[in-house]
Amino acid sequence: MHTVTRRRFLIGSAQLALVASAGAACARPPRPELSGLAHDVPPAAWSDLARRLSGPVLRPGAASWTRIVTPNNLVFNAFPAGVARCANPNDVAQSILWAREYTVPFVARCGGHNYAGYSTTPGLMIDLGPLNRVDFDPATGIATVGGGVLNSTLYPALQRLGVTITHGRCPTVGVGGFFLGGGIGFNMRAHGLACDQLRATQIVTADGQVRTVDAGSKLFWACRGGAGGNFGINTSFSVQTFKVPARLTVFSLSWTDRPRDVYRALMDTLTAGPAGLGSRLQITAGQKPSVQLLGQLVGTPDEVESLLRRAKTIAKPASEEVRPMDYWAAQTEFLEELGSPGFYQERSRFFADALSDAAIDTAFDWARRWPGTTQGSHMVLFQTGEQVNALPREATAFVHRNSKWLMTINLSWGTDTSDELLAQNREWLDKFYAAMIAFATPGSYQNFPDPSLANYLESYYLTNLPELRRVKRDVDPTRVFIYPQAIPPA
Ligand SMILES: Cc1cc2nc3c(=O)[nH]c(=O)nc-3n(C[C@H](O)[C@H](O)[C@H](O)COP(=O)(O)OP(=O)(O)OC[C@H]3O[C@@H](n4cnc5c(N)ncnc54)[C@H](O)[C@@H]3O)c2cc1C
Repeated sequence: MHTVTRRRFLIGSAQLALVASAGAACARPPRPELSGLAHDVPPAAWSDLARRLSGPVLRPGAASWTRIVTPNNLVFNAFPAGVARCANPNDVAQSILWAREYTVPFVARCGGHNYAGYSTTPGLMIDLGPLNRVDFDPATGIATVGGGVLNSTLYPALQRLGVTITHGRCPTVGVGGFFLGGGIGFNMRAHGLACDQLRATQIVTADGQVRTVDAGSKLFWACRGGAGGNFGINTSFSVQTFKVPARLTVFSLSWTDRPRDVYRALMDTLTAGPAGLGSRLQITAGQKPSVQLLGQLVGTPDEVESLLRRAKTIAKPASEEVRPMDYWAAQTEFLEELGSPGFYQERSRFFADALSDAAIDTAFDWARRWPGTTQGSHMVLFQTGEQVNALPREATAFVHRNSKWLMTINLSWGTDTSDELLAQNREWLDKFYAAMIAFATPGSYQNFPDPSLANYLESYYLTNLPELRRVKRDVDPTRVFIYPQAIPPA
């Protein structure tokens, strides 16, 4: 995940040019059925849609239009011709059927945080925002979360119940994309991925049917890591919660002195750490790279200190915070400064083990060569392992079950970055990424979609791809649900 600060810029003309070139760079497969251009849709058709729905249909200029349609990654800021604000599953079904009837391209939108803009369209945006209920069954501990819920709604609801799930840190990420693509967070090493905690989902398929699927259904299997936008539109997710840990210590440290050796030490001790440890280890690119560590441990400050001892002996941290905290106070602290829209690109890869000396040297070497923007660039490692690897590869569509770390290299820029400088940055990112994948497994995280990945289907789904294609053939043979990296039918 990129670290977005609130110093973001609004879209300007330079970026509009970029939107066009980014779109051209993606090899878009033809949209077999929904090839109609949105501007061909007659006004009467929009009235027809409005008549079919309980929720409102918005057209450009409507109140809240910009807030609703703007995606998190402004590189892909394409405006829809209309938005269906779906109030219930029937609204979703009617929107799909309407789009098919009038051959209007469409996408589902939950939080709009797809890295590659796959919840944007020039056609109909099926906005799940009003599906924002969180219900809870105290007997089973299962929470049923509406398909349009954002983390900012989910966290307070779970907090009131004294339970949690595996979740991320950004308040504006939606559950729609998050659950369907896997769902990583600091709780995953102790409790598995968010998709592992799913018990059922309600989904509207291409034929407009509202189905509830659970264990034993291949469609349910596909919804546990097959990524949003492939099989239907999920209107709710039933997820097994667990009690919040009674004792939690959070830590946030940075080092500017001897960063390479500190990083080596942290890499070794964290990799061997207990399942209750969730961590994120970052190299900030620049002539003098620095190291940041953020995380939580279900345990005491002394236990955290023993994990940090070796690194702190090598160099004194430039900043340091280790303190016991209430679980939800800690999560509030973590989400500070995350999630504002901006311009960015991110490339990911899983590592099967601690990075070798050669991999670490390569990372620092490339970090030093960053051409620079006024924003930032980081190589971030999210600590996986433990319960993430507990299930066999074929148990869910999420296939990456043999990793210890998930790497992303991110690049952010603003409207003040020239096209020439951006091109240099992109070239640097590609070379840095190529150098790192020499040490990595073949897998990339499907929830960090990367338009520049050549063999994206194999990288996201590995050995589960053939089965995912069979599910696609069974539920959406004519590819009603499609986007540039969509799973094709078998
Ligand atoms: C700032 C930031 C922080 C992030 N943090 C984390 C993190 O901590 N852990 C993690 O695992 N990932 C994280 N991500 C990645 C995130 O999980 C994915 O980008 C996810 O797809 C976003 O979901 P969304 O609903 O917000 O996005 P959207 O763009 O709305 O949707 C993503 C995709 O899913 C489809 N979709 C959305 N809702 C539904 C639905 N209900 N039914 C069917 N299809 C749907 C969309 O059409 C699109 O193809 C982060 C991303 C950002 C930008």
